[in-house]
Amino acid sequence: MQTKKKKRRLKRKVKIFLGGFACLAIVLCMVLFISRFLKDPEEALPAPEVETIATLCIDPGHGGYDSGTIGADGAMEKDINLEIALQIGKQITKKEPRIKVVYTRTSDEVTWPEEEVKDLEARVKFAEEQNADYYLSVHMNSNNSPSVYGYEFYIKENDSFSRAVTRKIVKNLDEAEWHYHRGTMNVEEYPLYVVTESKIPAMLFEAGFMSNYSECTELQQTKNQKIIAKGVAQAYIDQILKDKLPDEDKETKKEEE
Ligand SMILES: [Zn+2]
Repeated sequence: MQTKKKKRRLKRKVKIFLGGFACLAIVLCMVLFISRFLKDPEEALPAPEVETIATLCIDPGHGGYDSGTIGADGAMEKDINLEIALQIGKQITKKEPRIKVVYTRTSDEVTWPEEEVKDLEARVKFAEEQNADYYLSVHMNSNNSPSVYGYEFYIKENDSFSRAVTRKIVKNLDEAEWHYHRGTMNVEEYPLYVVTESKIPAMLFEAGFMSNYSECTELQQTKNQKIIAKGVAQAYIDQILKDKLPDEDKETKKEEE
């Protein structure tokens, strides 16, 4: 009798244990199931296919072994280049997903050898391999005189696309009260490999002087980086649409009137 009772009690314990385990498993499955739907719905669904109208290659200058210029406060050019370049790309894809943005680097890691010529060649080659339509290199400037400040552009003399972009950037940045335009230089006079050697419309944008203490500080502030990036991004979007979809551009103009 005693052992029978013990056996029954044991059976009951096992049943309770298994029952509890099953309940727990069901609850866990439900939580997992619900959490899938509670997640950002955009994330759960596959991204819709967007037609690409153009590819822009953004090149954050320097990187890895090459710090670029060192700022008045010790900041490294390569870091600010990367932050502003990524911000420009982010603004473009957010506002106009039909423009594909590719980067020569997205971190401090570089894929090219530690040698200046090979470094620059790799950037131009990357844009070619990606079939990029336009090329934008982002840099910070430096001058022996610490009072020099402002942004400038380097383009090919006959590159009407990039010239139009520079005008739009100046207009956008003026409107954002970032009034530091110094001018647009031709690479025929001031050769810069990545612009000279690119067969596509190419621009090197020197966003400001790191040798100027206050500008160097301003260039590191996220809010200023966003002002600059937004101005540059909008200029590229407008000019790319005009270049690739002239009919659509005319229609938007009509709507505005
Ligand atoms: Zn540089």
